[in-house]
Amino acid sequence: MRKSFGDHQVLRGIDLDAAPGDVVCVIGPSGSGKSTLLRCVNLLEVPSAGRITVGGTEITDPDTDIDAARRRIGMVFQQFHLFPHLDVLGNLTLPQRRVLGRDTEHAVAVARENLARVGLADRAAAYPSQLSGGQQQRVAIARALSMGPEVMLFDEPTSALDPELVGDVLAVLRELAGDGMTMMVVTHEMAFAREVADRVVFLDGGVVVEEGPAARVVGDPVHERTRDFLRRVL
Ligand code: ATP
Ligand code: MG
Repeated sequence: MRKSFGDHQVLRGIDLDAAPGDVVCVIGPSGSGKSTLLRCVNLLEVPSAGRITVGGTEITDPDTDIDAARRRIGMVFQQFHLFPHLDVLGNLTLPQRRVLGRDTEHAVAVARENLARVGLADRAAAYPSQLSGGQQQRVAIARALSMGPEVMLFDEPTSALDPELVGDVLAVLRELAGDGMTMMVVTHEMAFAREVADRVVFLDGGVVVEEGPAARVVGDPVHERTRDFLRRVL
């Protein structure tokens, strides 16, 4: 898969796959194309060449219903992107009602279930501004889960958080992984990658320089560029 912006080729031939239930962590320096890769998987960016298949559906096929395909993929960003004028319950129910056409009762039940899953059952009536960054990020995760995705994409979900709040969010990701969710996680949290990822992909300059089992790529990288990068982040 390739992606260019104008004549700037950002992804220069990426070939990746994840089996159902896999956790793939994507690491790499700033500007290497990690966010672009994730955004392509969700068709927030349209690849310039190549194909992307999610759960057997080729989402890059022009005949595919993009909205339907996108519903199967949840995404969580570094900045939480909550609706500031809605309380937590509203944040979780609005997209279910608007996009999935669920009635309020159904949407509320799903929302409460997912709030409990991220440890925030008691904050349903709070507004985003009344929550810590870690709580806001967990709400964003619960909101994405409420749409019933088959795949979850996380783009540096803990990078905007104060250090003491990172652990709570990683704990939620760890649990999701344990529940068998298929996940792609862009992260600088190497300990997390090592512990939770089935596979780590090191991206540099728009190509996959190295990929493999987490313990190998993070613990004993083969390529000099990977070693260089890890020396700087560890
Ligand atoms: P970071 O760690 O800083 O988040 P990244 O690995 O996520 O970096 P990307 O955001 O994917 O990197 O960006 C990769 C390259 O693509 C950068 O050179 C960036 O300037 C360029 N790029 C990303 N999005 C666009 C866009 N919409 N238009 C033009 N160039 C873009
Ligand atoms: Mg990025």
